[in-house]
Amino acid sequence: MTDTDCIFCKIVAGDIPSTKVLETERVLAFRDLHPKAPTHVLVIPKAHYANIAELTAADPGLAGEVLAATAAIAESEGIAETGWNLLGNTGAEAGQTIFHVHFHVLGGKSFEPLLAA
Ligand code: 5GP
Ligand code: ZN
Repeated sequence: MTDTDCIFCKIVAGDIPSTKVLETERVLAFRDLHPKAPTHVLVIPKAHYANIAELTAADPGLAGEVLAATAAIAESEGIAETGWNLLGNTGAEAGQTIFHVHFHVLGGKSFEPLLAA
């Protein structure tokens, strides 16, 4: 399942270059083009789903594989112990700009807690 106009489908296909961090049969992770932290990796299912709701409804097992990959990347990036953030923007108001579901793995610096009082 691909979307011909989707940047991340093009990265999966190799039509747009990326710096890969992890690849399995169904999951790909690569460095964000505009990193917001020393570690900023995007983790996606290779198949095209627009957002977390579509992915989890269609294939919860694949959603689990994507989530497991985020933790594996935190380990390999050396931020598992110091701490890391997992961000999944869903919808335009939340700041989602690419409508192929992805998680941001962010770490290597101190973040203001998003939900601080
Ligand atoms: P969103 O705002 O949808 O949650 O995140 C999209 C992310 O994709 C942004 O952080 C942006 O920097 C990144 N991005 C956009 N185009 C490309 C690209 O062609 N290659 C890579 N590696 N990252 C991209
Ligand atoms: Zn796509």
